[in-house]
Amino acid sequence: MQTGIPFNEDYNAAQQEGVAYFQQTAYKGFRWSTAKGFLKPARKRPNLTVATKAQAMQILFEDNRAIGLKYKRGNQVLQVKVKRELILSAGAIGSPQILQLSGVGPKALLDKVGIPLVNELPGVGRNLQDHLQIRLVFKTSQRTLNDEVNSIFKQAWVGLKFMFTRTGPLTLAASQVAIFTNSNPNVERPDIQFHMQPLSADKPGDGAHKFSAFTSSVCQLRPHSRGYLEIISSDPMKYPAIHPNYLSDERDHQVAIDGIKTARRIAEADALAPHIIDEYVPGRQFQTSEELLDAARRYSQTIYHPTSTCKMGDDDMAVVDERLRVHGLQGLRVVDASIMPEIVSGNTNAPTIMIAEKAADMIKKDNRQ
Ligand SMILES: Cc1cc2nc3c(=O)[nH]c(=O)nc-3n(C[C@H](O)[C@H](O)[C@H](O)COP(=O)(O)OP(=O)(O)OC[C@H]3O[C@@H](n4cnc5c(N)ncnc54)[C@H](O)[C@@H]3O)c2cc1C
Repeated sequence: MQTGIPFNEDYNAAQQEGVAYFQQTAYKGFRWSTAKGFLKPARKRPNLTVATKAQAMQILFEDNRAIGLKYKRGNQVLQVKVKRELILSAGAIGSPQILQLSGVGPKALLDKVGIPLVNELPGVGRNLQDHLQIRLVFKTSQRTLNDEVNSIFKQAWVGLKFMFTRTGPLTLAASQVAIFTNSNPNVERPDIQFHMQPLSADKPGDGAHKFSAFTSSVCQLRPHSRGYLEIISSDPMKYPAIHPNYLSDERDHQVAIDGIKTARRIAEADALAPHIIDEYVPGRQFQTSEELLDAARRYSQTIYHPTSTCKMGDDDMAVVDERLRVHGLQGLRVVDASIMPEIVSGNTNAPTIMIAEKAADMIKKDNRQ
């Protein structure tokens, strides 16, 4: 707030700009997934079958109508038939991958991997967007979560605390403080978001650093860079090649540079500066615009928000229409983050749940006749 960013009680309300505590989808100390919130209560319904550890391989078509799905479970290849329609919800990577494997996608690609064309849709797998997070790490004189998790005894204590009191570090979301702000004064609404985390690591998944530190991760909310993904063979068990193309559009460069500068300005504020020992990453040797862009490329990674690879719309590159039905085909919808025409200016989980809620209404309505 000392840098001029206002406090915001609720960044999901009328005004997004500000510094706030992160909101969570959590209940009684647990993160509350859609599996817990939506699927579990419906598990006893007689018209629901859940096949876990199953890999969808290919949608089956009769002419241009989806009539079933081929999937693999263990060593068995199975088929399920569709009575009304098939709803594909495999996410922004999985949904275009399955469509391409099923002959729905760019013709040149399908020719290359030898999959017969069912419906040419050049946009399947294109328009990939994500929030690239640039992760600044500051060493601090204060204790942080790094200190809580760096010994087996402390980990045990954290585990026991959670087990018996449902409190402590294990109830925390990865980030505590959210900041939505403008990368420069000419921007009309927030175009960068911070995830402030009381811990640090070389990269997520690696162990926490052995010193006290916090992470100030900054991402551009509406990047211009576009990536794509393509299957590399007709084998459904092979991963697709994902080309995120981060920072490939020059318009994103200045936002990345200004994002790092904003993170430094926050670290230099009176309330924080006395507690900071050092900027560990990227480090003060990165100063000029060129150096800061270099730092952005070196110390950044996905924040796991891939979207938009089966975008909704009516142009040549659109994959689904406004009711999420796949263009040119019958009995097939896509319902997940892949249908966002453009990535949302914030975290993607709740918007995806909103897409699913809206889709559920439309599917019920369309099937009432
Ligand atoms: C590590 C991580 C942290 C995140 N943190 C946050 C956060 O803090 N806040 C936030 O808002 N968002 C967060 N996100 C993003 C959020 O989880 C996604 O935006 C959201 O889950 C997208 O929903 P979806 O339904 O499109 O895809 P998903 O949730 O990915 O669902 C797709 C499902 O399809 C399955 N699938 C894919 N292909 C196949 C196949 N061939 N056969 C069978 N099943 C298949 C997948 O296993 C998956 O279960 C995070 C994501 C990750 C990975």
